[in-house]
Amino acid sequence: TPRTPEDVKRLVAEHDIRFVRMWFTDILGQLKSFSVNASELDDAFEGGMGFDGSSITGFNAVEESDMIAVPDASTFAILPWSPAEEGVARMFCDVQTPERTPYEGDPRYILRRAVQRMESMGFDHFNVGPELEYFLFKDAKDPVPLDEGGYFDLTALDAGSDVRRDTALALEQLGMKVEYSHHEGGPSQHEIDIRYADALKMADDCMTYRLTVKEIAMQHGWHATFMPKPMTGENGSGMHTHLSLFRDGRNAFFDPDDRFFLSDVGKAFIAGQLRHAREMSAVFAQWVNSYKRLAPGYEAPVYVAWSRRNRSALVRVPLYHPGKEQATRMELRCPDPACNPYLVFALLLHAGLDGIERGYELPEPMERNLYHLSPDDRRRLGIEQLPETLGEAVELAAESELVLRALGEHTLDRFVEIKREEWEDYRVQVTRWELDRYLPVL
Ligand code: GLU
Ligand code: MG
Ligand code: MG
Repeated sequence: TPRTPEDVKRLVAEHDIRFVRMWFTDILGQLKSFSVNASELDDAFEGGMGFDGSSITGFNAVEESDMIAVPDASTFAILPWSPAEEGVARMFCDVQTPERTPYEGDPRYILRRAVQRMESMGFDHFNVGPELEYFLFKDAKDPVPLDEGGYFDLTALDAGSDVRRDTALALEQLGMKVEYSHHEGGPSQHEIDIRYADALKMADDCMTYRLTVKEIAMQHGWHATFMPKPMTGENGSGMHTHLSLFRDGRNAFFDPDDRFFLSDVGKAFIAGQLRHAREMSAVFAQWVNSYKRLAPGYEAPVYVAWSRRNRSALVRVPLYHPGKEQATRMELRCPDPACNPYLVFALLLHAGLDGIERGYELPEPMERNLYHLSPDDRRRLGIEQLPETLGEAVELAAESELVLRALGEHTLDRFVEIKREEWEDYRVQVTRWELDRYLPVL
């Protein structure tokens, strides 16, 4: 792996790379890119490359639109689907203002700030392992699946296994360690799991993962989507996210003497996720459609509780196996794969650190299937529920100290503005469901 601009220039020469794409991410987690001739690399590393930020969603308005993209040499990779001659590579960029200070609306910077807070509290790694699920459809117009397979099905029922293999190989060429991949619960639904990594690398990798999945599907003539709930009545696509903190090479969540094998740090971190889940929701589930996934009965969480076995809970702590201290972690099941991974990882980290700093108490685990509890049961047990709509979620985020701290004022304001608009636009649509239901009888 390259480390320095010198490494990058050597690789560019060795592999006959003609163009290097400068990648960065907008506020909603869409990948943005412009291409630089390989002969410009010296300039790019020295002064960054200027671009107009005014048309990037969530960035500044025209008055202050000059932005600089500064490539991060450690992220250099050759795109596996580019031609062998005169090929194409990419680097992720940090975005700066013309004054050469980090741009406060750059999601990478927002995540870097969260990591700094963690370091100032004495931890050295925030390990993140997301499981991105997606569907393969015939095209982008209608959700027509390629197979009727289900969880772990293969061959005839799994039309996607060749695409999945090609995708896994491409991900490895792009520097990810693919651990396993399988058909998921929905028809034509898939998951490829990559090994955990530090949060910033993992957020970059999520961006690369989504592009790669789409790119390889397109080569096979299909459309891959990370839309959270493309089909009524089938599972949606989640991005379960496994989290742990490390200090001096040791897992700070592990305690051999605790009944759950969790340290006080681990418990407080998890308590932070539970306490703040509702106000963070607009960020980890950021689309109107995200809330159609977060409904009972589809292996997606609805109720704010934790558990060791039960997949209906928001947080699951996988059971401890002797000798696996380093794997002690929590799994947060609410994010979906159409999120902005930089903002999500930053926010989850802040929530956990708040829990540690303020000594939040972890409630008792809930091992029952939470989908089966009545509203009365839940009230009695004090179990809260995630917001049911984007409209509800965005108002909770708008009032949240934690989200303000994590995103910063600039980004939170822009985010709330964009999301209120999206909700308002949706709220007034008359849908097929309403016409079928009401037109004949009302
Ligand atoms: N697809 C489910 C979700 O929406 C998760 C299935 C699983 O447990 O992997 O989160
Ligand atoms: Mg899964
Ligand atoms: Mg999972």
